[in-house]
Amino acid sequence: MSSSILIVEDEVLVARDVSARLERMGYTVVGTAAKGEDAIKLALSEKPNLILMDINLRGEMDGIEAAKKINEASSIPVIFCTAYSNDEVLQRAKVTSPFGYVLKPFDNRELSINIEIALYKHKVEQDLSDTKKNLDATLNNVSDGVVAADADGKIFLINPMAEKIVGCDPGAGFGMTLDDLLKLKAFESGQAVINLTSPETFAYWKQFSGIRQLLTRTDGQTVPIELSASFLDEGSNLTVITLRDISQQLGYEETIQKNALFDSLTELPNRALFVDRLNRAINRREKGGQQGEFSVLFVGLDGFAVINEGFGHEVGDKVITEMGKRIRKVIRDDHTVSRFSGDIFAVLLDPVDAVAESIQVCQQITTAVQEPIAVNDKTLNITASVGVLVNSGDYHSADEMLRDAGTALHRAKTDAQGSYVVFDNLMYEDALRFIDRKNDMQKALVEGVFDVYYQPIIDLKTGQLASMEALARWPHPKEGMIPPDEFIPIAEATGLIMPLGEFVLRKVCNQIRSWNDMGLDGFRVAVNFSARQFETDVLALVQAAMATSGILPSTLTIEITEGLAMKDVARNAIMLEDLRRLGVNISMDDFGTGYSSLSYLKRFPLATLKIDRSFIKDLETDEDDKEITKAIIAMGQSLNLATLAEGVENEAQLEILRSYGCDYIQGNYYGKPMPVADMTEYLNR
Ligand code: C2E
Ligand code: MG
Ligand code: MG
Repeated sequence: MSSSILIVEDEVLVARDVSARLERMGYTVVGTAAKGEDAIKLALSEKPNLILMDINLRGEMDGIEAAKKINEASSIPVIFCTAYSNDEVLQRAKVTSPFGYVLKPFDNRELSINIEIALYKHKVEQDLSDTKKNLDATLNNVSDGVVAADADGKIFLINPMAEKIVGCDPGAGFGMTLDDLLKLKAFESGQAVINLTSPETFAYWKQFSGIRQLLTRTDGQTVPIELSASFLDEGSNLTVITLRDISQQLGYEETIQKNALFDSLTELPNRALFVDRLNRAINRREKGGQQGEFSVLFVGLDGFAVINEGFGHEVGDKVITEMGKRIRKVIRDDHTVSRFSGDIFAVLLDPVDAVAESIQVCQQITTAVQEPIAVNDKTLNITASVGVLVNSGDYHSADEMLRDAGTALHRAKTDAQGSYVVFDNLMYEDALRFIDRKNDMQKALVEGVFDVYYQPIIDLKTGQLASMEALARWPHPKEGMIPPDEFIPIAEATGLIMPLGEFVLRKVCNQIRSWNDMGLDGFRVAVNFSARQFETDVLALVQAAMATSGILPSTLTIEITEGLAMKDVARNAIMLEDLRRLGVNISMDDFGTGYSSLSYLKRFPLATLKIDRSFIKDLETDEDDKEITKAIIAMGQSLNLATLAEGVENEAQLEILRSYGCDYIQGNYYGKPMPVADMTEYLNR
């Protein structure tokens, strides 16, 4: 497409001549104007690619004036042509930044060269201005601050984001040096501060891509920024710096870091941080940087599971939070208190002045925890047990320390609630024995070596055998017969009670079947169930054992302990009710030793209360035991429950129990627990 040209010329003949010549050269003449005003109108309506403008025009406005007006409204390039020129005119013409200047008369070649140069120059300018517009738009909109400076460090470009980050007024940064505008400080001590104005080499900048520095804003505030700097190219010495405000990002990083090291509920250090500090304490001793003892206290809230399940997790969380605060308060600031897990807090006393100081801290902790705590209009009384482990140089790993502190806590919990126990080596041996026992037991279960003994239960009115209790026995290849008091707790702690319980139940059911087949019947056999077994589907277990053995439910009794009433009473009551509906009897074992209350006794479908042996042992001599036993029997009668006394060893005890109206007797007086063969013989008599 040929370029379009507007001719402004007041000499009609000249205008016609020029027009004809231009057409011949291949341009399109969009019009001719004789007056300045007309030239402006035509220029704006026709939008020619170029204007050939005579300077001397008749009328008000000369060509320079007209070109100025056209320039203001558009960017059409103008070539002036004039027959004469003086300095004054040239000067005036110059300010309109014309694209060419030809003197009349001009030949075709001169004209065409001028026109082509003007068009080319205009195009280049147009492109440049487009590029600049795009660049400006980009720089105004990028989320990074951009600052560019020349070889002297003088800023010639700064975008709005950079102004915002630095806090300077729009345009105020131009002409400042980089050092004046960007006041940088090291982010961490020991870190280099960037030298902005005297970069030695290109490689120097390369080190500073994405580096973090602190920037002091014009208002004096400090913001963390991430900064990259580069030379535009190695020769030009132009520096371009991009900056990004990373306060928000750092905020996120901080929370992420915080979550990794602190417990969100109590805001105390978590297990990971605690272990880290413990390791540091050990390392400092090993490197000789610090002498002396340090200790770990494991603080466990007693019965926390009951609180959590009984009152809900919200209450549980509040208790944990409050206890965390209380413990933190009694511990010196330079010691560590962490939430180690669930309801266990771990305390690192470093350094500590021998065992005595640790014990003193234990007392402070247990006292602080014992204060009644009000949660959601309830007042709870909670105790803490503490396991203490003092390291006087024998421990070289955090794992070992934590293991033994855990053992001490476990011991404290089983000794008495609210107590503390300092770990000693005997405990370690106990712990080892525990693990041995566990492994042995696992093996014994697989090999089926467990045995069941039977102890007769006599009806006091008739003097006849009414039932018997099945009691597990562990014939150990090396240690002989291990009594249940030694292995049942380990089985419960390790979960082995599930397979053990099932093993005993199936063995007993099969035995009942054998006796019945031999014509020996008319009695029940009681099997002990651990509270933990109720965490699984006991109903299915009992049904399965009865089905495979083919015994009647009326031959089976299940003994439960008061522990079952300690948690999830509602659920356990339903499970017991299901069992009772099957036709199985439920007995409450070891009654009087736990936390039984009448209210839950009523909720459980019990048939029998077994009075704990501890009340019977000294029944003949101890007045308190008499009172308690009498009361239990009376209570059983009023609740329509049969009563059974365990551990009856002599005639005197038996007579007292008879006088109180006790229904059944179990004990060595009538018969010790015995193996199947002996029991079969007993039944046959
Ligand atoms: P328990 O259920 O209260 O069983 C009664 C315990 O008293 C038995 O101890 C029995 O041997 C003992 N005993 C009975 N009469 C007398 C007596 O006149 N004098 C004395 N001094 N003791 C007497 P054993 O067999 O050592 O069992 C201890 C506990 O182990 C049982 O107490 C029971 O809680 C538990 N246990 C035994 N077998 C099993 C089982 O198969 N499963 C579960 N979960 N626990 C079991
Ligand atoms: Mg029992
Ligand atoms: Mg008992």
